Amino acid sequence: MLLSNVFSASYTIARNRFREAALNLKANLESFAIDEKGSNHEELTIDFAFIGVKQPKWMVVVSSGLHGIEGFFGSAVQLAWMQEAVGRNELQIGTDGAILLIHAINPYGMAWLRRTNEDNIDLNRNFLLSNKTYKDAPFEYSLLNDFLNPKSPPPLIDPFVLIAIRTIWRYGYPVVKQAIAGGQYEFSEGLFFGGSSPAKSTQIIQAALPQWVSSAQQIIHLDFHTGLGKWANYELFPSVLPDPSRYTRVFRQFGLDKIADRVPYKCRGLMGNWLANNLIHTNYIYFNAEFGTYSGLKVLASLRAENRFHFYGKEDHKGIKAQLYEVFCPKASAWRHSALTQGLALVNKALEVSP
Ligand SMILES: [Zn+2]
Repeated sequence: MLLSNVFSASYTIARNRFREAALNLKANLESFAIDEKGSNHEELTIDFAFIGVKQPKWMVVVSSGLHGIEGFFGSAVQLAWMQEAVGRNELQIGTDGAILLIHAINPYGMAWLRRTNEDNIDLNRNFLLSNKTYKDAPFEYSLLNDFLNPKSPPPLIDPFVLIAIRTIWRYGYPVVKQAIAGGQYEFSEGLFFGGSSPAKSTQIIQAALPQWVSSAQQIIHLDFHTGLGKWANYELFPSVLPDPSRYTRVFRQFGLDKIADRVPYKCRGLMGNWLANNLIHTNYIYFNAEFGTYSGLKVLASLRAENRFHFYGKEDHKGIKAQLYEVFCPKASAWRHSALTQGLALVNKALEVSP
C-alpha cells in the first residue's frame, strides 16, 4: 500500500474516504452535524465509526481533528488503519474488544483550514471541568496580546521573528510559551482562546463518547495532533490520571521514553482530562499523541498570520492557508511516511496491549 495516498487535500475528501472505509469494515457509523457549512456549502459533521462486539470489555478510541487543520494527519492514520484491516482481513479486537474511530472533532477548522472552530475556540482548552469557569487570561497574555493578535491585515513583510525574539528576550521563553499556549478566556479574537461556554463539538463529544464506551472496563484513547515536538517524531502526553501507578504497565508497553514526563505548558480545558475525570468507572487512559513538524516559532508565526487574515484580511495573496496546512501536515514524503508508520504502529500497539 502506498501510505502517502491516505492524506487528503480537503475535509470533504477526508470525510468521504473515512466513511467509505468504515463501511467496508461493516462499522456502525454515526454522524453529528455541527450546524455550520464548509467553503462549498457542504455539511460539516463529526463522524463516529464503531467496530466490534456490542458490549465490549475493552476499547481503543482513535480521534482526529480536535485542532481542525491538524486532523489531516490523524485522518490519514485512521484511513490507513482501516485500509490495512480490510487488506489483512483481521481486526485485532478478539471476541470482547472494540475500536471507536472519531473523525474531525473540529470539522469547521478542518474544512476552513483553521486550528480553531467556528467561534475561534481552541477546543482543547474548551473542556473545562464543571467546577471551573470560562474566565480570565494569564496576566502575561494580556501583555502579549497586541503582539500576538494585531488588529490589521497581514502586511507584505512581517517583522514577526524580530518582535518574537525581542519579546522572548524581555520575558523569558518559558513565560512566553506558558502565557501563549496555556489558553485564555478573555480575548475572543486571540490565539488559544478557550471559549465562553462548551462549544458544539465539545457538547457532542461529552454526550456521545461516554455512551459508546459505557460497557468497557479499560479504554486506551489516542488523540492525534501535530505541530509540537521534533520533526517526524512523536511524544505521548497522558491526561492527568487519578492514580498514575495503575497505568505503569501500559506506559511501559508504549515505551517510557515516548511518554512525556513533563507538560509543555499547563493548560485548562483539555479534552483528555475531562474524559479521565468524568469516566471514572473505567480505566480511561488518554494520550495526546503529538507529532512534531516545524519549529515552535514557525508554527506560531503561521498561526498568528492565519488568525490575523481570518479577522482582518481579504485576499489570501501570500498563501497563508497553504502555509498553515504545511506546518501541521508537511508535504515532504519522508515526513509523511515516517509519521504515518509511527501513527499506525501506535494504534496497533494500543490494540495489542488492551486485552
Ligand atoms: Zn493539537
